[in-house]
Amino acid sequence: MPKRDPGFSTLAVHAGAAPDPTTGARATPIYQTTSFVFQDSDHAAALFGLQQFGNIYTRIMNPTQAVLEERVAALEGGTAALAVASGHAAQMLVFHTIMQPGDNFIAAKRLYGGSINQFGHAFKNFDWHVRWADVFDPQTFEAQIDERTKGIFIESLANPNGTFVDIAAIAEVARRHDLPLIVDNTMASPYLVRPLEHGADIVIHSLTKFLGGHGNSMGGIIVDGGTFDWSQSGKYPMLSEPRPEYAGIVLHQAFGNFAFAIAARVLGLRDLGPAISPFNAFMIITGIETLPLRMQKHCDNAAAVAEWLKGEEKVGWVSYAGLADDPNNALQKRYSPKGAGSVFTFGLKGGYEAGKTLVENLKLFSHLANIGDTRSLVIHPASTTHRQLSEEQQTAAGAGPDVVRLSIGIEDAADIIADLRQALAKVN
Ligand SMILES: *Cc1c(COP(=O)(O)O)cnc(C)c1O
Repeated sequence: MPKRDPGFSTLAVHAGAAPDPTTGARATPIYQTTSFVFQDSDHAAALFGLQQFGNIYTRIMNPTQAVLEERVAALEGGTAALAVASGHAAQMLVFHTIMQPGDNFIAAKRLYGGSINQFGHAFKNFDWHVRWADVFDPQTFEAQIDERTKGIFIESLANPNGTFVDIAAIAEVARRHDLPLIVDNTMASPYLVRPLEHGADIVIHSLTKFLGGHGNSMGGIIVDGGTFDWSQSGKYPMLSEPRPEYAGIVLHQAFGNFAFAIAARVLGLRDLGPAISPFNAFMIITGIETLPLRMQKHCDNAAAVAEWLKGEEKVGWVSYAGLADDPNNALQKRYSPKGAGSVFTFGLKGGYEAGKTLVENLKLFSHLANIGDTRSLVIHPASTTHRQLSEEQQTAAGAGPDVVRLSIGIEDAADIIADLRQALAKVN
């Protein structure tokens, strides 16, 4: 009988996990320990020297984290993964592995606001420089590449409007210039989009959002696609040159198609320290088991809400890729046929005051700055996250005075719509 490859839902429940060999525990235990006993001195030496894999200290590796890593690597189709404390920690470790002071990378302008801050401000302190490009014009990426460029960064389903990106078109630019393509797949999750299948080399996630899925635990992850040749150009010395801290090992030579995940762990996580707690890793593993069910419900609910909003008198526009007449609908159908995600924006004809009134009168929706919770969430960016910007800056960022952003949860669609209807009735 030919061997069957398990499907996505089976992997979401089982990948990386097995009953605990000593206790028989069926759910993955929370290995709430900082450190692990060595068998003897030779064993300890082999672990420290990277000659043998094994647990030493939870900042570097832990059995609960290992299950999370194997599971997400399987769902994304990667060779290995590294789980860390947050999505931002994942981004920091990716760039720490490829950048030297004075280097640059090209990033899409349409990104999560926190990533725009991290790249544009915090990274400057390391002398790492971001160059912004328009994700709908791959030429704007290509035009800014020079000999100090080390990578390209995009979101598969981009903030703030929930727009699908032509990953393959950007991957072609990356390939032409021998650069790794790094894709933030947080908003889509691997249930909707698997960027490695479209030419990405590294995928990152904020596990805090749809993968954990319940708005209760912070986490981030780096998935190594195993596709990039880190030795060819000599531009990635962390991977292609002997490492003095590991007796001269060349990581790409020693670890081949999962060398990036190893480097991010033993040179990045080990020395910079943003480890995920075993408890959060456990919570996120549990969340992932229902990812396919939740994600489909998120998408179906969001489609129903967007369709309803479009017919409302007080609503000026709705930006949801799943609507048949949306300019992004063709890319959605090509990259994410199962659904268009659950985060989108719409505009109120009544502008700033209308946005504030709507948010203040919603009851089922929670007014907060997050996405990807089981609960429906709302934010009026102009009066909250983007209030320090001028009106022109707000509009350029897709956060004009009339814009409301929703992250649709997995409640009953009829209840979500009823809540919006009663709040909208109070808006002028
Ligand atoms: C939230 C988020 C991040 C940052 O993740 P944290 O877990 O909050 O550090 C990065 N990218 C996207 C798309 C996000 O939504």
